[in-house]
Amino acid sequence: MVIKMDFCKKYFLYLVRWQLSTPILAIVLKLLSNMSTLTATIIANLIGGLIFFWIDKIIFKKTSEVPLWEIKNKVECYDCHKKTKGYRIVMWGNYDRTTDKHPQYRCRECSIKKMKTISK
Ligand SMILES: [Zn+2]
Repeated sequence: MVIKMDFCKKYFLYLVRWQLSTPILAIVLKLLSNMSTLTATIIANLIGGLIFFWIDKIIFKKTSEVPLWEIKNKVECYDCHKKTKGYRIVMWGNYDRTTDKHPQYRCRECSIKKMKTISK
């Protein structure tokens, strides 16, 4: 079984992140010690969830080792303005345009040039 380094790194970060939730849980439970254990734990977990949702989102952000392309017919190339089939890289490593509100499509030639600038 081959375990990728990226997986090991994420798993390690996730374990560290779990340890970081311990002091928050302990502090909140101490501060709310006059409440029932169940209510205090629910509040502590709610606070932890509000914080760690964002950290988990970073840890589990998807990356792509190979370029993920989107191809669209009949578009105007962003660079040379030729009307053609358009290509754009949506995700590649840390390059992420999955939520791009104004995606830029390029003709085949211009998309290859753009790909070279992304891969640098
Ligand atoms: Zn072009």
